[in-house]
Amino acid sequence: MLKVHSRCDLSCDHCYIYQHADQTWRGRPARMPPATVRRAARRIAEHAREHGVPVVHVVLHGGEPLLLGAAGLREVLAELRTAISPWARLDLRLQTNGVLLDEELCRLFVEYDVRVGVSFDGDRAANDRHRVFAHGGSSHDQVRRALALLRRPEHRASYAGILCTVDVRNDPDRVYEALLAERPPRVDLLLPHATWDHPPLRPGPDPTPYAGWLGRIHRRWVDDGRPVSIRMFEALRPGGGGTEAFGLAPADVLVIETDGAWEQVDSLKTAYHGAAGTGLDVFDHPVDEVVRHPGVAIRQDGVDGLCATCRACPVVDRCGGGLYAHRWRTGSGFDNPSVYCPDLLGLIDAVDAYPPPAPSVPRQRPATPSGPGEWSATAPVDELLDDLATGHGSTSTLALLTATQLSITRALLAACRDRFGSTAAWDLLVHLDQVAPDAVRAVLAHPFVRPALVHRLDPAALPGLGAALDPLPALAVAVALRAGVPATVRVPLRAGAITVPTLGELVLPGPGDSAEVTVRPGELQVPGRSVSLDPLAPPSTGWLPTRDVPVPGGRLLLEDGDPYRDCYGQPVEPRLDAPAARALGRTLTDAWRVVRRDVPAHAAALDGGLRAVVPLAPDPARPLRSATARHAFGAVAVTPHPDPETLAVLLVHEWQHAKLGAVLDLYDLVEPDQGTRIRVPWRPDPRPPEGVLQGVYAHLAVTQVWRSRADTDDPDASAHAAHFQAWTRDGVEALLASRSLTAAGERFVGQLCHALEETRVGSG
Ligand code: SF4
Ligand code: SF4
Repeated sequence: MLKVHSRCDLSCDHCYIYQHADQTWRGRPARMPPATVRRAARRIAEHAREHGVPVVHVVLHGGEPLLLGAAGLREVLAELRTAISPWARLDLRLQTNGVLLDEELCRLFVEYDVRVGVSFDGDRAANDRHRVFAHGGSSHDQVRRALALLRRPEHRASYAGILCTVDVRNDPDRVYEALLAERPPRVDLLLPHATWDHPPLRPGPDPTPYAGWLGRIHRRWVDDGRPVSIRMFEALRPGGGGTEAFGLAPADVLVIETDGAWEQVDSLKTAYHGAAGTGLDVFDHPVDEVVRHPGVAIRQDGVDGLCATCRACPVVDRCGGGLYAHRWRTGSGFDNPSVYCPDLLGLIDAVDAYPPPAPSVPRQRPATPSGPGEWSATAPVDELLDDLATGHGSTSTLALLTATQLSITRALLAACRDRFGSTAAWDLLVHLDQVAPDAVRAVLAHPFVRPALVHRLDPAALPGLGAALDPLPALAVAVALRAGVPATVRVPLRAGAITVPTLGELVLPGPGDSAEVTVRPGELQVPGRSVSLDPLAPPSTGWLPTRDVPVPGGRLLLEDGDPYRDCYGQPVEPRLDAPAARALGRTLTDAWRVVRRDVPAHAAALDGGLRAVVPLAPDPARPLRSATARHAFGAVAVTPHPDPETLAVLLVHEWQHAKLGAVLDLYDLVEPDQGTRIRVPWRPDPRPPEGVLQGVYAHLAVTQVWRSRADTDDPDASAHAAHFQAWTRDGVEALLASRSLTAAGERFVGQLCHALEETRVGSG
C-alpha cells in the first residue's frame, strides 16, 4: 500500500487516520516526493525479482490519493510500471473518496489498468452521517457522480467496487439498496475501527447490534440471489478463504508512508500512536527486513499467533480472531479476542443459518509451485471470478490464468523429473531456465506441452496418443533454438519424425528410435542433415515449419503438426496442404476481426491467451464442430469453416471453455460429483453440474456476440440473441436450483446473471 498523499479533502469523523489514536500523519510530507516513489518502486521490484514473485499488488492510498492530480498520479504509475513490470505482473489499485474523480483520471486509470475502489457508506443519510467536508457539507452527490463515471462502459474495467463502513444507526435495507444501485463489481463492508480501550458504538440494549445489522443485509443478499460479491459474507462461509479482517491466512500487506517509512497495516493506527511503525524505511531497508519485524512476523503464525480464547474457539478458522487492530487493549496488547467477538460469533451463526447449509467440501488448493518464476500467490479468487463473470475477463485476469497454467506445466515437468530421474535433457532445461528464461516460458506456454507431460506421466489419461515418449529432449531443443544456445541432446522419434514444439517437425529418413540433435544459432542438425531456421533460406529437406496466422494484435499458431494436439477426443486433421492452410489462415484472420468488431472485450480476452488453433477433421454429419481440452489451455480446435462470422462465434464459444477450465484447475466452483444430473435446453441428455456451468459460460458469450449483432442490420441476430439468452438463463436457474455449486460457484453464477441481464434485447 503506497501512501502517495497523506492529506484529505474530506473530514470524516470515523476516519482512523486523522481521528483515531495515531497522529503520525502530522509529521509527514503531504505528498510522496518523486525520489521516494522511485525508491519504493525499486524496493518492491527488488523483492519481486529476488523471490520470483509473479504478481505484485500495489494500492495507491492516502489520505486521498487523487489530491496528487492526474499528472502526479501518472508519474507514480509510470514509475511503478517501469520498475516492477520487468519482474512481476503489476496489479494496480487505488482507494479514493471519489470527490475529485473526473474523466481525465478515469482515462488514466483505464490506460494503466488501475482498479479503483470508492469509499461510500450508502444512502444520503448514511453517507452524510460521517463522510462530510470540513465545513460539514455532504459529499454524497460528488461520490455518486464518481461512481457513475466508473460505471460508464469505457471506464467500467477500472471499477473495482465500494468500501462501506458500517454504522448500526443506519437503516441496513436502505444502505444495501443504495450500494446495489451503484452496480459495483464488489462491496466491502467494514466494521468501524474500535479496540477494547475504545469499544464500538452499541446504541441500544442489543449486545450484538453488528451481528443483527449485518445479518439483515446478509439475508437480503441471499434472497436476492447474491447479486454482487460481498466479501465479508463470502469470507465468513466455511472454506470462504478469509480476508485481512477474518480467517487465518498470513497478513500480506505492508504500507509505505509518504516519507518512505515502512509501516504495518494501516488499521493499527486505531490502537495507539505509532502502533503501525516499524522504524524501517525504503531507503535503507529491503522488504525481507520488514517481514522479520516482530509485528509483521506474528501475523504470519495463523492460529498460533492468537490469544488462548480464540485458539479454543470453534469458529477460529473462519473468524481468525477478527481484525488485528480490533484486539488491542492497554496492558495485554493484541493478545485478546476481537472487541467485536460476540458480534462475530453472532454473524457467523447468521451466515450459517441462512439459507440452510448445503453439504460442504474442502476447497481445492491451487497447484503447488515447484520452481522459480512460478505462480505462488494465493489468487484473489473473488476478484478473478467477478472479472470473468462479466463474460470475458480483463487482460490482467487472462495474464493471471496464463501464469497459473504455466505453473501447472512446470509442476508436471518436475513430476517427470521425480518419476524418471534427472536426464541430460532435464539438466539442459534447468541451464536454459537460467540463461534464457523467456525462451523457456515461450515453449512451456505452448498449449500442447502439458498434454505431452500428462501423457508421459499417465498414458491412460490421454488414450490415443500412442507410446509415451519422453518429451523433455524436444522441449530442450525448442528452447535452445529459440534462445540461440548451442546444445546437443538425443531426441526420441515418433513415426520417424522429431517434433520441435512451437517451431516445426523434422522427418528423418530410415528407421530408428531416436536421433542426436545438435542446435546452433538459427540451425538444427541431425546426422547427415542440417536445417536452417532462417525464413529467407531455401526450404530444408524434411523440415515442416509451423505456420503462423496474422491476427489483429499478434500472431496465432495454426497447429496441425504437434502430435499432442490429438487430445480433444475427436479426430484432428493431418498436416494441411499449403492452399488449405492459407484458406484457413485467412478465415481465422477475418474471424478475429469479426470478434473485435462485435465484442471487443472478448477479442481482448482472446488476445490475452489464445495461442493456437487446431483444425479438426471434417465430418459431413457435423460440419460445425469445435472443442477445447482441459490440458491444452491456449488452444481451441475447430473444423475449418469458410465463413468468418461463424468461425468468430466458435472461437468465442470455445475460449470460454478454456478460461473456465483454467479456473477450475485452481478452484472448486462445483461440489464433487455426487451423481447430480441437470436437464439443459441445449443437450438431450442430463448433464453433470460442471458441464452445465461450462455450457452457461459459453452461451453467455455467444449471447453477447448476437446481442451486439442485433444492433446492426442482421435480421436474425435478435432472435439468436434471445435464443441463447434463454438457454443461458435456463441453465443458470437449473444450476442454482441443483444446489451443486460451492460458495464461490454460487457467487460466480450470481454475477453471470448481471452480465446476462445486460444482453436483454432492447437493453442499452
Ligand atoms: S475520505 Fe477517507 S481518508 Fe479522507 S477523511 Fe474520510 S475516511 Fe479519512
Ligand atoms: S474473536 Fe471471538 S469469535 Fe473470533 S475467533 Fe476469537 S473467540 Fe472466536
